[in-house]
Amino acid sequence: MQTFGNYINGEWINSGETFENRNPANTDEVVGLHVKASAADVEKAADAAAAALPKWSGMAGPGRGAILFKAAEILDSRFDAIAAEMTREEGKTYPEAKGEVRRSINILRYFAGEGSRFTGHLVPSERDRVHMFAIRKAIGVVGLITPWNFPSAIPTWKLAPALVAGNTVVLKPASAAPISAYRIVEALHDAGIPKGVVNFVCGSGGTLGKAIVEAKPMKAISFTGSVDIGKWIHAEASKRLLRTQLEMGGKNPTIVLADCDFNAAVENVANAAYFSTGQKCTATSRAIVEDAIYDKFVAALAERTKKLKVGNGMEAGIDIGPAVDEGALKTILDYIEIGKKESGAPLVGGNRLTGGAYDKGYFVEPTLFADVNENARIAQEEIFGPVLAVIRAKDFEDAMRIANASPFGLSASVQTTNVSRVFDFVYGMEAGLLTVNLPSAGVEYQLPFGGTKESSFGPKEQGPAAFDFYSDYKTIYLKY
Ligand code: NAP
Repeated sequence: MQTFGNYINGEWINSGETFENRNPANTDEVVGLHVKASAADVEKAADAAAAALPKWSGMAGPGRGAILFKAAEILDSRFDAIAAEMTREEGKTYPEAKGEVRRSINILRYFAGEGSRFTGHLVPSERDRVHMFAIRKAIGVVGLITPWNFPSAIPTWKLAPALVAGNTVVLKPASAAPISAYRIVEALHDAGIPKGVVNFVCGSGGTLGKAIVEAKPMKAISFTGSVDIGKWIHAEASKRLLRTQLEMGGKNPTIVLADCDFNAAVENVANAAYFSTGQKCTATSRAIVEDAIYDKFVAALAERTKKLKVGNGMEAGIDIGPAVDEGALKTILDYIEIGKKESGAPLVGGNRLTGGAYDKGYFVEPTLFADVNENARIAQEEIFGPVLAVIRAKDFEDAMRIANASPFGLSASVQTTNVSRVFDFVYGMEAGLLTVNLPSAGVEYQLPFGGTKESSFGPKEQGPAAFDFYSDYKTIYLKY
């Protein structure tokens, strides 16, 4: 079995106390051992990043991009093995893992190309013979803290724009699924990234996260994870005026209107609610259905939900893998109990799956609660599992009111064929990522990503907007 080390100043540090990374579909299998980094390691990593900064940020953008292009080629050459490893450490199905690794490769290529397009502004001055322009420059050493649910794509969509803009980084992946991020760092190393530019530390979020926020060279922190930790990072980081970017939880609604393409709407809701075990920040956890089709829709969705196959994501034909770990499973089961008390028995699911191979993993039935009160806890709090609350709405206006009555605002979807409703939704919905006649989850990397309210804080990720966080302007006035 492989021991996965930390990566500091271009060196792999493979010895030290380790922790286990177990397969959530079969807890007998240890997927890897990870060397625990310490707060002192974070300091070393941040110092190495600071030392590497002048040369890396001084390098021409296309040169930085070339290293990212090469890393993408390397990842592509290891594609199947890396995807299988992701399924084994995180639990998502193998096809979903392949989709995620493909996305990481595409993100690397997209931002590698941005190395040649890293533009500023050039405008005419009011004064004769004055040339004025603004260039974008790296901000410096950036701390990246990532969750387990997209263990490859999220580290990549932080690393790639940070690096191509000329920053140097310290990356801390989630302890539940760190190998996928390790593989990205390994590809960058193999592509020849100069020492100190990327540093990778693995271990306790409490210890390492604090050390990252407190490390002297740090200029900014990009965090994806839960709301409470995001708020803590922001509170600590802002004491030192560090820039923060926080991507956090969601309670994403899909509004289903009577004029929708019915079968497509059923499929879109089932997909967004249950695939990836509901462990997507953009997953639908509230279906808000117009009264006129409510009963028919709930019946069809219940039938679709019953057909979903839960199991080990490496097996063909499986739709839904396990929860990522015991803690996540417990949270999901606790919320199912809360849901039973609030809304009665679920229409579908509601139990941990047991017997045979299920006993070795953290499997739970996709669960559908119908007739949920909009203020119920399962309709307001993030569960981050395959649990859907269906809420009845009188009409479109009522559905929008219910959808917006949430502290979160990450993604939202509407299923309708009425173009006016589409635009009312686009302009009235309080969320950063909107889909129409698509699942609420399933975004691409070429446009800004992020939400509003308690879901997100700071500049958006991905697309051209990524550089709003990972660079600063320098404005120059020049008399000639
Ligand atoms: P989490 O518990 O908040 O952990 C996220 C990261 O923060 C992990 O690397 C974790 O390390 C680290 N961490 C833990 N305690 C910390 C501390 N005190 N200081 C600094 N860092 C600390 O979240 P998660 O369970 O991994 O992910 C699920 C959450 O992420 C959900 O709320 C989901 O909605 C959200 N999410 C949001 C988006 C988005 O784009 N909006 C995308 C994906 C996920 P350890 O793993 O070592 O604890």
